[in-house]
Amino acid sequence: MQLPAGAARAIALLEAAGYETWAVGGCVRDRLRGVEPHDYDLCTAATPAEMQTVFAGERVLETGLQHGTLTLLTADGPLEITTFRADGAYSDGRHPDAVRFVRSIRDDLARRDFTVGAMAWHPERGLFDPFGGRDDLAKGLLRAVGNPDTRFEEDALRILRAARFSAQFGFAIEEKTAAAMRRQRKRLSLVARERVQDELTRLLCGPFAGRALRTCRDVLMQPLPELAPMFDLDQQNGHHRYDVWEHTVRAVEQVPNDPLLRWAMLLHDCGKPACKTVDENGVGHFYGHPKVSVRIAAGISCRLRFSSEFEKKLLVLVAQHDRPLGDEEKIVRRRLAQIGEERFRQLLAIKKGDIVGQGTQPQDMERLCALERMLNGVIEAQQCISLRQLAVDGNDMRALGLTGERIGDMLHRLLEIVLDDPTQNTAEVLRRRARAIMEEDI
Ligand code: ATP
Ligand code: MG
Repeated sequence: MQLPAGAARAIALLEAAGYETWAVGGCVRDRLRGVEPHDYDLCTAATPAEMQTVFAGERVLETGLQHGTLTLLTADGPLEITTFRADGAYSDGRHPDAVRFVRSIRDDLARRDFTVGAMAWHPERGLFDPFGGRDDLAKGLLRAVGNPDTRFEEDALRILRAARFSAQFGFAIEEKTAAAMRRQRKRLSLVARERVQDELTRLLCGPFAGRALRTCRDVLMQPLPELAPMFDLDQQNGHHRYDVWEHTVRAVEQVPNDPLLRWAMLLHDCGKPACKTVDENGVGHFYGHPKVSVRIAAGISCRLRFSSEFEKKLLVLVAQHDRPLGDEEKIVRRRLAQIGEERFRQLLAIKKGDIVGQGTQPQDMERLCALERMLNGVIEAQQCISLRQLAVDGNDMRALGLTGERIGDMLHRLLEIVLDDPTQNTAEVLRRRARAIMEEDI
């Protein structure tokens, strides 16, 4: 394993000063998985004050110093170096009461949550793996370091971290660890909601999100209790092959791994349980469910502290997931004029996810793909879908004798004409059409 030059140099400098130092945590895990780490963390026997002496005169950030972390600004980017630590008691279920600096790498690794993240690596000494992280990595297993109940009692966020890692790496959760997650899940109420939101979002965006949503569903219902009624709910409807939860999970897996799309997919049908009716033929219906889904999604968004900007976009996608986007160019242009290209594409993605989740209607997917080709055609041809692209502007209208509000009104009417028929978008034609409208209006 080759370390970036900045990290290798920092290790060499600290060790020359007599302080044992290792690369640790996610970067060791990722390198062993054959993945390039997004950052490298070091840990060291040096105390913060000792680190400051070793790196005197270099560019550092001292913001994490009381927790034992010095950030060294290297040519490869910021490098976090943390003093070997053992955490004290956790009386609030989330934060250690005190951080205690220790002199042994083993004690530092013992405070970490999962074996695959509790390994250290050194350019000469190689891998230090006292908890069997490498074996677990090879088996694709997420296992708590030490007694899992204790570890989740200390810090309940680890329960969600486990589910999130499973979604990121496709790991199974070792049996005793999984059982402790379920036993301790109520403690998730102690965790700051922003942290819960962050872990859930990372889980949803993981390449194995579907797996985590299935295997950890009971744990995930602690922060998202509104979704539990979807479990195993039979749709009793020929359009659907799966129950509401399995449909949802498949739809989540299907959309691009963007937080907005993944959350919208998770929540799009959460109103279904409350709306289910069964007709005299035994067929299930869910009339009005998007509205109820929006209400539930708004509650979840507020509780998990999503930004109001994110919430607004999320609720639009949930509300409109069921509405047709049109099937002819004219309608595509109109919808584009109303909602813009970005939202149009988001709705398209949501609809595709929804259809795949239904598992029954390949011809619907064909139709959506045709719609997407139409959309691409309209965009590529730079067809007019906004006042900006109209071949005439306010000055032209003024020249025709219009004033005040009538200018804007006329431009909108001309846009309507062009949305219907793009060939009308020339200055000459539009001036003529405007004059005709003015005569009619008299
Ligand atoms: P990522 O790729 O998401 O950064 P990571 O494993 O590096 O994964 P971080 O959150 O960056 O995760 O944490 C770095 C290391 O610190 C982890 O590998 C783990 O050993 C330890 N750690 C982080 N959070 C906790 C926690 N809540 N409880 C125990 N150990 C933790
Ligand atoms: Mg990390």
